[in-house]
Amino acid sequence: MTMEFTDRIERVEPSATIAISNLSAELQADGIDVVNLSVGEPDFPTPEPIVEAGKAAIDAGHTGYAPSNGIPELREAIADSLASRDLAYDAEQIIVTPGGKQALYEIIQSVIGDGDEVVLLDPAWVSYEAMVKIAGGSLSRVDLTPYDFQLEPALDDLAETVSDETELLVVNSPSNPSGAVFSDEAMAGVRDLAVEHDITVISDEMYDQITYGVEQTSLGTLDGMADRTITVNGFSKAYSMTGWRLGYFAAPDGLIEQAGKLQSHSVTCATNFVQHAGVAALTECDDDVAQMRDAFEQRRDLLVELFEDHGKDVPIGDGAFYCMLPVNDDDQAWCETAIKQAHVATVPGSAFGTPGYARLSYAASEDRLREGVERLAANDCL
Ligand code: PMP
Ligand code: GLU
Repeated sequence: MTMEFTDRIERVEPSATIAISNLSAELQADGIDVVNLSVGEPDFPTPEPIVEAGKAAIDAGHTGYAPSNGIPELREAIADSLASRDLAYDAEQIIVTPGGKQALYEIIQSVIGDGDEVVLLDPAWVSYEAMVKIAGGSLSRVDLTPYDFQLEPALDDLAETVSDETELLVVNSPSNPSGAVFSDEAMAGVRDLAVEHDITVISDEMYDQITYGVEQTSLGTLDGMADRTITVNGFSKAYSMTGWRLGYFAAPDGLIEQAGKLQSHSVTCATNFVQHAGVAALTECDDDVAQMRDAFEQRRDLLVELFEDHGKDVPIGDGAFYCMLPVNDDDQAWCETAIKQAHVATVPGSAFGTPGYARLSYAASEDRLREGVERLAANDCL
C-alpha cells in the first residue's frame, strides 16, 4: 500500500541541527574524528547534585505518572526562580514539559491556526518555522543580519512588518544562533509594538543564564507585557541536561488551560524522577551554572582570537554559545565541504533563515575549538 501523509507534515524538513549532529555521529561511528560544532549541547557532565537527586528519586519510587502539568515542588521552584528575575507567575501558571521544544510546540499549537501570522526575527532558531508550518500559520520575517544581529536598530523594520493581523511574535534573547543579547531599548520597542497591535509574544529564554558581562531582559517584566507574554525556558543548556528532556513555560491562565489539554493528550507529563532532579538544579546548582558559564565565555574569547589569527573579524554575541560565521552565498555547500573534507560539523545559516552564514557552537573544549579552526583553515574554508 502507498501510505499517504498530511500536508502539514510534508511541508516541513527534519531539524537541520539534529540532522547534522546525526551525520556527525555516523561519521564518528565509521572511525572518522569529527569536530562537532553543530548541535547546541554543552560538553559538561550534568552537575552532581542533579544526578544524585535523579537517582534518589528513582530509588524513592518516583517512577509512575506525575501530575500532567508538573509536580508541585518543581512548579513552585520554577515560580521562585522566575520571581528572582522579577517575573510574577504563580506555580499554577507553569507547565513542565519534556524539553523546551515540547513547550514551544504546545504553545504554537494552541495559539496558531490556519493562516495566522507569526513574526520571526532572523536568524531564528530552526524549529520555530517548522512548528508554525505544522500549525498552518504563515510566517513573516525580519532580517537582523544588516544590524550585526541586534534588534534595536531593526525596530523600524519590525514596525513595518507587524500589524493588527499579527498573532504571535517570537523573541529569543540570548539568541540561538547569533548569540546576540537584545538591549533594554529593543525590548521596550517590542513591548510598544506588541501592545499597539495586541500581539502575543513568546519570550524564549533558554540561554538567559549564559550571558557574558550583560544581563538578559525578560519581556514579561515590562509594563503591559505580563498578560501577553509566554516565557519559555528549560534545563538543557544552563544545567547541561539535554538528554534528560526537561523544560517549561509560564503563561497567563487561559493558555495553561488550553495547552494543558495538549500536554495531557500527548506526552501526559514530563518524566517523574527527572522533575525531582529539576528541583535540585534550581535550588542547588548556582555554582555549577556559573562555572560552565565562565568556561563558555573563555571559549568565546578563544574563538574570536583564533578567527583573528586567520584574518577573520567575527563579532560574537554576548550570550548563548553560538556564533554565525560569514561564509559564501552557498552556505549549504560550505557546510558540506566543512564536514566532508575538514571533518568539522556546522549548521548552514539558511536553516535559520539567513543564508551566507554557518552556525558554530562553541560548547566544545578549547582543544576541539583549536582543532576545528585549524582544520577549516587548512581546507580553505576560512
Ligand atoms: N529554544 C532554543 C532557542 C533552543 O536553542 C533550543 C535547543 N536546545 C530549544 C528551545 C529547545 O531545547 P530543549 O528542548 O532541549 O529544552
Ligand atoms: N537547540 C539546539 C541547537 O540548536 C539543540 C538541537 C535542537 O534542539 O534543535 O543546536
